[in-house]
Amino acid sequence: MTTEPPRRRPASVLAPPPPVPAATVAPVPKPEKKAVEGRPYLLDFFPLESEKDTRLARFFSRLREGRLSTTHCARDDLLHWPPRTACPKCHSEELEWVDLPESGHLYAFSAVLAGAPMGMEADVPFSVGLVDLDGVPLRLFGRIEGRPWNALQIGAAVRVETYDVGDGRFFYRFRAPA
Ligand SMILES: [Zn+2]
Repeated sequence: MTTEPPRRRPASVLAPPPPVPAATVAPVPKPEKKAVEGRPYLLDFFPLESEKDTRLARFFSRLREGRLSTTHCARDDLLHWPPRTACPKCHSEELEWVDLPESGHLYAFSAVLAGAPMGMEADVPFSVGLVDLDGVPLRLFGRIEGRPWNALQIGAAVRVETYDVGDGRFFYRFRAPA
C-alpha cells in the first residue's frame, strides 16, 4: 500500500482576499437586548405548566397542592405514566386524575458528579434514580434528596415530595430519610 503525499494548494488560493473598502461594508444592526430566561428551552427540564401551554396542566396544578398524580383510563383500568391526554390503549380522552402513592422504594440510582445540565451546576453532586411506587405498577425517574449519593442503597424507602423549582413552577422529587 502506498501513501500519496498531501497535495498542496496553489499559492494563489492561500493568498488573503484583497481588503474590502470600509465604505462598502454594510453596518451590522445591533441586536435588540431581549429579556430571556436563564435556560434555553431545550435545556429546560421543567415543563411549561399553564393551561395555555399544556393539556396536562392539572398534573402541575396538583403538584402545587402537594399531590403527585397521573391519569387513569376507567375503560381499560389502565394507570398511565407519564400522564396522558389520551389513553394509549383505547385512545379515549375521557381520563380521570388519580393521586399516586407518596411512598416507594429505590430501584436504581446514579450520581451526577460532573457535567451537570445547564442550570443544575450548583447542585453537584446530586442523585437521580428510579423509584417503584408502593402499590402501583409504576417506576418513576426523579431526583433523590435527603442523603448523600454514597449513602443511598437500592431498596431504600423514599417519599414523594413536591417543590418549587425556583421560578414558580412545581415538580416532584423523592426524599430518602436521613
Ligand atoms: Zn383506555
